[in-house]
Amino acid sequence: MWAVAGGAGFALLEGLLGLLRPAQGVAYQWLDLPLSLLGWVLVATLLSLPRHGERLASGVLLALVLPVLLGSPWWALLGLLGLVIPKVGIAAFASMGLLSAWLHPRESLEQATHPELPGLMLITVDTLRFDHAPGLLGQLPVQAVSAAPWTLPAMDSVMLGVSAVEHGGGREGETGVTRPKGARLAERLKEQGYVNSAWVCNPHLRPELGFDRGFESFVHSDTWRDPVLLRFLVQDRMQRWTGEIPHMWRARDQALVSLAMRDVERGMEGRFVWLHILGPHEYLRDPVQVGADTGELYALAVERSGNDLAALLQAIPSGTRVLLMSDHGESLGEGGLWGHGTDLSDAQLLVPAWVMGMSLPMAEGPVFSWDLPGAVFEGQALTSHPQAPVTGVRGDPQRAALRSASGYQALDLSQGIVLDELDLGPLKGQLEALGYIGFPSD
Ligand SMILES: [Zn+2]
Repeated sequence: MWAVAGGAGFALLEGLLGLLRPAQGVAYQWLDLPLSLLGWVLVATLLSLPRHGERLASGVLLALVLPVLLGSPWWALLGLLGLVIPKVGIAAFASMGLLSAWLHPRESLEQATHPELPGLMLITVDTLRFDHAPGLLGQLPVQAVSAAPWTLPAMDSVMLGVSAVEHGGGREGETGVTRPKGARLAERLKEQGYVNSAWVCNPHLRPELGFDRGFESFVHSDTWRDPVLLRFLVQDRMQRWTGEIPHMWRARDQALVSLAMRDVERGMEGRFVWLHILGPHEYLRDPVQVGADTGELYALAVERSGNDLAALLQAIPSGTRVLLMSDHGESLGEGGLWGHGTDLSDAQLLVPAWVMGMSLPMAEGPVFSWDLPGAVFEGQALTSHPQAPVTGVRGDPQRAALRSASGYQALDLSQGIVLDELDLGPLKGQLEALGYIGFPSD
């Protein structure tokens, strides 16, 4: 009885919190309630099993499983408390869940202070190669040269408006990584009066690395540690077992898109919204299809991201300037290379860019990806350049080149700027565990 009442009450509160405060995790729907109810009743039942041995087993199980699922070691204590004093355990468990949900980043988009300013939206799709771009939107984009073949230095360039050779950020050393200085896009727009919000994923775009600078509201999906996310994790596991396509990665992207959609629906005037989704990056994380052709998996992931973005792109009000682009490409076997961050090559550096809501005079030939936000959002001139300075091979921070139509000519970085390394601390371990540091170059 206690278990059912506790589980039901918690599920209901979770639903209310999820509906009232969608930034708690993912946009919550009433249809989610039955599954959520089932999950919490199950947890509460395990904690209140009558026999000591059963309670011991379930308490240990929960103490092991919950911290993994919910991302915080505190949940282990609750599992143990539940096995010793069941009712107190359930109560503590529910309070902890509510507290964690309550304390999570709120949707805090403030009123636009300068509604006369045109709405601006930057959508970055991770790991999208230029030649796979039509799979995303079905139309040919502008070709841009990214500053670097992986997220951190490439997105530093997008936000700072200078090449990675110039800003020197994203060079990995013994303890951490170099972080560049300078005013970022959101900071510059804020000075103009924009109210900025961001919905992002990818550990390299975490606030610790400076990507939240200038944003009034910055929500990174890694901060979703609350019970609403638990439901998606359970769904993910279930779909793996039943052989359906697991969609945890896609669920996160869809959640980010739906949260950005809320901004769009409120009206874009005077706002700058940044959305980053990871879809194409995750094409090899699909265990159901191991053995399938890698290129096909990649193309499928790109297509899915296009489907995820379709409704949002349609909903963006006219008059909003939209820049949709990628941070870097992906090697799909060219020169025996796979992945990204491993080479200065067109496969990893050529990215697509689409501009909507304004006409941007385009020069012949590729443009610098780091020139695009300034051109679309700040009215700076956009020209094509015969040569692009590129760098950012992981494990070889001194490697740089000038990319031109005829190839890559080595560039000497010895005169380059030297920046202090930011000690990543525990984040380094997380990045390694997720495979974001030491990406295999096989
Ligand atoms: Zn990336």
